[in-house]
Amino acid sequence: MQSSTIDPAEVDAVQIDPQKKASPLPRREGDRGRVSSRNPIHHPHPAPPPSRGRVHNSSGYRLADEIPVLTRDLFRFLRFAVLPVFLCLLTPALAPASDDFYAKARARMVEQDLRKRGIADARVLDVMGRVPRHAFVLPSDRFRAYGDHPLPIGEGQTISQPYVVAFMTQAARIKPGERVLEVGTGSGYQAAVLAEITDHVYTIEIRQGLARGSADRLKTLGYARVNVRHGNGYHGWPEHAPYDAILVTAAANHIPPPLIQQLKPGGRLVIPVGSTTYHQTLTLLTKDAAGKVSVDHLLDVRFVPLIYKSP
Ligand code: SAH
Repeated sequence: MQSSTIDPAEVDAVQIDPQKKASPLPRREGDRGRVSSRNPIHHPHPAPPPSRGRVHNSSGYRLADEIPVLTRDLFRFLRFAVLPVFLCLLTPALAPASDDFYAKARARMVEQDLRKRGIADARVLDVMGRVPRHAFVLPSDRFRAYGDHPLPIGEGQTISQPYVVAFMTQAARIKPGERVLEVGTGSGYQAAVLAEITDHVYTIEIRQGLARGSADRLKTLGYARVNVRHGNGYHGWPEHAPYDAILVTAAANHIPPPLIQQLKPGGRLVIPVGSTTYHQTLTLLTKDAAGKVSVDHLLDVRFVPLIYKSP
């Protein structure tokens, strides 16, 4: 039994690699043995005040006179030649990336992280190659939006790893015209992926700030038909039920019965089930034409927890 706690920012929608050992928890800023400038123990001999005028050594010569000419020339060279070149090289990395940069990063993601790892549904690959994931992450994370990992989206929540988004979408086998419910809107990225496949997407988010932010973002990006609601998705969205597919993008320790009820005969429910703090198994529940349900266990994952009670 482990006794450590997990920072929610470290958790989410990431496929568990069985080869990788659990890494130790990251140290926080405060853990780094800060040295207090007020603590006299760290400053037994206060440093002399900086000299403003010429600096002399004990024998009265200017120190600058002692620096060999070659070294001085080297300093000049570094200052006037190397530094500007270095800054020029650095500028593109600091500037906002271009559409071309994102398109290339997205194409790489589809090939390396999705197709080569077994995502085979042509429609899912096509959609993942079109939705601008960088528009759903924090501005400071845009340059790494297409990396093989989840990213923070604020309020301690995360946008899932691209592979997990593609895997869940593929497992739900959504066809154009079908009605889909997502529980856990977060950034709105998974909802946008679904909206590229069908016009009938409903998504619920329990955190008001995220619900508002993703509704605005989806509108701005041309996904105005996605219906976003602030509320507790544990209870589903009965007004628009039944659904052909339901995706839950937060970790549950059981399958919420209202979601099973709101699934059509022939419907698919994809949900991470297990410990809400540690690992879960991505689970596919299928309801047959007679209303009988069967369950398949698909993939080991780690999601942020599903909240059961409304705050
Ligand atoms: N699908 C999202 C990421 C999901 S992160 C994306 O593409 O960005 C999980 C989200 O589920 C969080 O935003 C969290 O606030 C939300 N959540 C947790 N419990 C919920 C509940 N009971 N109902 C609705 N949303 C919930």
